[in-house]
Amino acid sequence: MAGAAAAGASLGFGASAGGLARVAARTAGPPIRGPVIRRGAAGFSQAAHVYNMRFDNVLPTLVARPLDSADVRTAVKWGVAHGVPLRARSGGHSYAGYSTLSGGMVLDLRNLHTISIDPHAGTATIGAGAQLIDVYAALAASGLTIPAGSCPSVGIAGHALGGGMGLAGRRFGLTADNLLSAQIVTADGQLLTVSAHEHPDLYWALRGGGGGNFGVVTRFTFRVHSVPRTVAWFVVRWPASSGADALGAWQTWAPHARNELTSIFHLNGGGFDPVRVTGQYFGPASDLGSLLAPITSVPGAGVSTGNLGFLPAQLMWAGCSSLSLSACHTAGTRPGGTLPRESFQAKSDYVSKPLPSSARNALVDAALARAQLPGSGAILFDSYGGAINDVAPAATAFVHRRVLFCIQYLTYDGGGSWLSATHARMRPYVTGGAYFNYTDPSLPNWQTAYYGSNYPRLESIRRAVDPHHYFNFPQAIGR
Ligand SMILES: Cc1cc2nc3c(=O)[nH]c(=O)nc-3n(C[C@H](O)[C@H](O)[C@H](O)COP(=O)(O)OP(=O)(O)OC[C@H]3O[C@@H](n4cnc5c(N)ncnc54)[C@H](O)[C@@H]3O)c2cc1C
Repeated sequence: MAGAAAAGASLGFGASAGGLARVAARTAGPPIRGPVIRRGAAGFSQAAHVYNMRFDNVLPTLVARPLDSADVRTAVKWGVAHGVPLRARSGGHSYAGYSTLSGGMVLDLRNLHTISIDPHAGTATIGAGAQLIDVYAALAASGLTIPAGSCPSVGIAGHALGGGMGLAGRRFGLTADNLLSAQIVTADGQLLTVSAHEHPDLYWALRGGGGGNFGVVTRFTFRVHSVPRTVAWFVVRWPASSGADALGAWQTWAPHARNELTSIFHLNGGGFDPVRVTGQYFGPASDLGSLLAPITSVPGAGVSTGNLGFLPAQLMWAGCSSLSLSACHTAGTRPGGTLPRESFQAKSDYVSKPLPSSARNALVDAALARAQLPGSGAILFDSYGGAINDVAPAATAFVHRRVLFCIQYLTYDGGGSWLSATHARMRPYVTGGAYFNYTDPSLPNWQTAYYGSNYPRLESIRRAVDPHHYFNFPQAIGR
């Protein structure tokens, strides 16, 4: 018995193993048809690693890659029966590394990546392992899209379950806002279809309640939107000395601009372009002269605009303008993928009242200070309003609907003290909310920060659907 426990422990499943047979079954891994890659096997490190290199030392015991929802059910049932902790993985981009764990099983859904369109219903059904650039490409071929973020290799599951904000956000809402139904494997091994009519509580919770809670989603059905043949893009740049004024003009304009226009304000801590706004407009670039006037009137502005086909525009936002579609994936996650992984950490805030000049100057100073440190960083401001704020805070689990914008403080390759100090400095000016998808594992009051007044309902749904709290991670609902 002691030997069995030791064997279990040495496999990395923890010390609760009971009996040799049980350990042997655990050693074999879940009996799925898809591959199971165990620690020590060829290719294990690459299979185990998530996008954020800060978590390269966090290694599961095995990575299981189900082929379909039946395989997902088998893996969940096996994990529950053998007391093996599980983390689902879609694109592996969790800022906090929540799609990996020390010991236990990663359920990597990359093989569930089918994207099918029903043009009559105006819907697309997307496998939970699809990456955003593949979603954009498949839908754009039919002149369609869903709103989502710009990083090409972010997975649809983590993204949609936590919200999903991007440059079509003010036009079409968050990714989660367009979710019509999902299939999810719950801890009792059932495969449930959830929608406004079936398991409506769970349907509510999946729209912003955050990945990793409730179960493993195997596929999503979204409402799709027609896109024009071309969209307009713009970049407005300023010198650092204009940063506080530019932010002042942007914050009173961007959240109230036409819904067709979504923009992001950047203060870069290092590299080129210390201050810039990037944005996308569902209309011709010829409209932009007047639409952008409230920000381009700030002295020092340099403006670039243009029209692009919808998919080329998404490739540009993804940083892939000169790459093929297959190259526009993280190296090692898809054949032909070339994009490097990164080492980073972040915090976020929401702002509901325009920032006074003291706050704006502090942010510009913080970005300049970051530029003096090793590594790099940025402070990004995602404009809300438009379709995002048309949804009531309690209508979905995503509560941040009455804000002007979200601030993201990002640091690469170090800069942790800078991150904490910059975040601390902004306390007087922000709502206290934070965006679950810009996950901050050091946030003390994450329940209220991520979910606000929606937290109690999320907790009770969690208790009903996963009473033994099998799906677990450091910021799991009900923890
Ligand atoms: C470079 C970069 C750019 C980004 N850009 C944006 C952006 O423009 N807009 C924006 O809103 N966000 C953005 N994000 C944040 C992103 O939305 C979140 O990190 C998101 O959670 C990543 O999803 P994923 O599936 O890739 O991650 P994963 O790490 O695979 O999953 C994230 C969480 O969801 C869980 N999960 C994964 N799959 C499932 C499933 N099938 N069922 C249930 N739970 C599951 C995981 O266990 C984990 O807890 C960006 C992130 C990065 C790293």
